Amino acid sequence: MYDLVIIGNGPAGISAGIYAVRYGLDTLVLEKDVISGQIASTEIVENYPGFSSIGGMELMDKFKEHAEKVGVITKDGEILSIKSDVNKKIISTDEGEFETKTIIVATGANPRHLGIPGEKEFAGRGVSYCATCDGPFFRGKNIVVIGGGDTAITDALILSKIASKVYVVHRRDKLRASQILQDRAFSKDNIEFIFDTVLEEIVGSDDVNGSVKKVVLKNVKSGDSKEMAVDGVFIYVGIVPNTDFVNVDKTEAGFIITNDKMETSVEGIYAAGDCRVTPLRQVVTAVSDGAIAAASAHEFVSRG
Ligand code: NAP
Repeated sequence: MYDLVIIGNGPAGISAGIYAVRYGLDTLVLEKDVISGQIASTEIVENYPGFSSIGGMELMDKFKEHAEKVGVITKDGEILSIKSDVNKKIISTDEGEFETKTIIVATGANPRHLGIPGEKEFAGRGVSYCATCDGPFFRGKNIVVIGGGDTAITDALILSKIASKVYVVHRRDKLRASQILQDRAFSKDNIEFIFDTVLEEIVGSDDVNGSVKKVVLKNVKSGDSKEMAVDGVFIYVGIVPNTDFVNVDKTEAGFIITNDKMETSVEGIYAAGDCRVTPLRQVVTAVSDGAIAAASAHEFVSRG
């Protein structure tokens, strides 16, 4: 029986693994994909301390190398179910069963995609899901933000300080975002709202390193379509946490509810990173969550 099984090998899971091994816990990391979470598909990271500019994949390679060096063991396994009582948890995977005293869920979340033509093709080349990560690449450019929730408006405000013009395209005529964010956005000279409108297509240049050149917008009331020249498209139509397999308290949208020790509603099960309710979803916050979750698992195991 393991002391700890960590589910997920993104920044939160790897950080938890490094801390757990150093605490002396008999630890296993279960990974579904060799590609480690959203960060591995991020072109460049410029806000992780110690690395002024590094590729997302390269940063993850460094994390993994570090984890291997301290002795973190990783196995493949897609989780099918978890059976839990206070002293023992049984994790069923497509690669067999694992018994453990504690679990850290670090399975992350994925931005919801629109599934429109051009979205996949230009991801990382003008299409982004994170202003904090990619905003600085659009200094002085024209960009469009899709969505009307808190994330869309928060990031439109961040982008308005970098880009020359920010268009916010929302499918209804009322924003979902909190009033205070709306008021701030409405008072910005370089943010323009386009309501009752959806994005139909993202168009860019065809060459290998081609980037976004324009978008096709459709007014849902009139049915009219029009083209608009932009350099970037930031899509914020919600995110989807990977938490279906675990039976702990979650929000309606599936985010795991924890306290500040990363404890969930079930004793011995912890959550870290983007899959939990958190005010910021970044590498730096995920690794912090992972460390705290490992400390909590260690405390639980030490109690015997
Ligand atoms: P959200 O609240 O679910 O908003 C998603 C937005 O995308 C909505 O405006 C929705 O339109 C739109 N949308 C969804 N599917 C779409 C589609 N297929 N095409 C076009 N538009 C679509 O998600 P979120 O903004 O990421 O926020 C998630 C949670 O985090 C919320 O609870 C939020 O309050 C919280 N959060 C808080 C803060 C803060 O407090 N500063 C910051 C960020 C996030 P409709 O409005 O028409 O449904």
